[in-house]
Amino acid sequence: MNQQNDITQKEPITAIATPVGEGGIAVIRVSGKNAIATVNEAFKGNDLTAQDSHTVHFGKILDGEGEVVDEVLATLFHAPKSYTGEETVEISCHGGVLVTQAVLEAMLDLGIRSAEPGEFTQRAFLNGKMELSQAEAVADLIHAKSKKALDSAHQQLEGRLGEHIKQFRQQIIDATAMVELELDFAEEDVEFANKEELKELLVELDEEIDNLLATYETGRLVKHGVKTVFIGLPNAGKSTLLNTLVGKDRAIVTEIAGTTRDTIDVDWSYDGLRFILTDTAGLRETEDIVEAEGVKRSQKAFDEADLAVYLKDLSRELTSEEREDIARFQKAAGETPFVLIGTKNDIALEVEDERMDYDLKISALEGEKIEELKKLMKQRALENKEYDSSSLLVTSSRHRDALQKAQENVRSAIQALEQGMTGDFLAIDLRAALKDLGTITGEITTEDILDSIFSRFCIGK
Ligand code: GDP
Repeated sequence: MNQQNDITQKEPITAIATPVGEGGIAVIRVSGKNAIATVNEAFKGNDLTAQDSHTVHFGKILDGEGEVVDEVLATLFHAPKSYTGEETVEISCHGGVLVTQAVLEAMLDLGIRSAEPGEFTQRAFLNGKMELSQAEAVADLIHAKSKKALDSAHQQLEGRLGEHIKQFRQQIIDATAMVELELDFAEEDVEFANKEELKELLVELDEEIDNLLATYETGRLVKHGVKTVFIGLPNAGKSTLLNTLVGKDRAIVTEIAGTTRDTIDVDWSYDGLRFILTDTAGLRETEDIVEAEGVKRSQKAFDEADLAVYLKDLSRELTSEEREDIARFQKAAGETPFVLIGTKNDIALEVEDERMDYDLKISALEGEKIEELKKLMKQRALENKEYDSSSLLVTSSRHRDALQKAQENVRSAIQALEQGMTGDFLAIDLRAALKDLGTITGEITTEDILDSIFSRFCIGK
């Protein structure tokens, strides 16, 4: 990791750092070499180049013709004490779309270049201000759509994942040192002083990586939301239930782009966990082409679901056909949690079918057992793993892949050890594992990794 004195100041870049729209204030950020002196050219007020770091100055921004664009506050950050590590000016102006744009243009007129998405954070990473996993957490923080996703991004931002990975790397470095000791004395035919100790260390490491990997499933759900499909015969009460669940929070319902009338997705949060609810059109074989397309989409939603909820109308007799349907879905769900809900319990048939084993019987119309249903959905989605916000979760598939690769290499080293291979074979595996882990925190990076990570950011970050 770079030290603070290794700060590189690249050419200045600028972008609007706040969301586009009308607000009280907006912030335009300028970061890079001589950012303060450059902004000073368009600033009427104190001489910004003569001011201390972390001070705020009232003044006016002028355009190329010397006309006043807006009254602003300029906050100064001297290198390396800024977000990017570079010299930075944050200009707070009035929040209108046009005013903000005009201030940005005044900056561009000074010859400052527009920042690429995530470029500020990329510079922060390159200057050692944060690890790669922390930089990614900034993106997660911005995109977080539920309280739990936010908690987990905060943890990553604090560097907790990074600390774990560093500890793993240290364990491997220790192991490598033991192996290399042997290599040094290879000609004298010295065996590892402590083969058992080395093996113990690696086995322990394998287990710890396993534990961290095991959090990925929960982490993924927390970050992306639980994809939930409602299935059942037409008129089973699917859309009524969906509306009941989303209820007063209707405002947060967003139609997710790309959906058709065949499936409707709504965003819904319960107890800090985000759900993406999909009302399927139906999953039965059909001759009708339009309907068949709907069935295809519904099938896809079912296949990709993290939770499947089958609704059976209790006011109608259970046909043998539907009973087969339910069994078929339950089987097709496989590992995916599947819940069977009886609906319209307010008008349920007197004689109920004893053969069915419902998880719950509800009435969306009368609000019966709705709270219980919400709890059940959360519990089943997380497979009874109570998630507490203090536990560290792996939420990124990139991190999971790197951990898996590292684990494979550690396992291969253990195998080499067991087969009595020489130290150089072990050293190859261990170095590879070290490299895999290094890609998580950013000790080892490639252009490709950086590009794909930082392009996920919005401009201004
Ligand atoms: P979908 O086709 O599965 O989406 O079913 P709908 O939600 O459109 O419901 C079909 C019909 O059942 C509508 O007339 C609803 O008013 C009615 N319905 C839905 N839930 C309940 C309920 O809990 N009790 C009663 N009595 N009727 C319900």
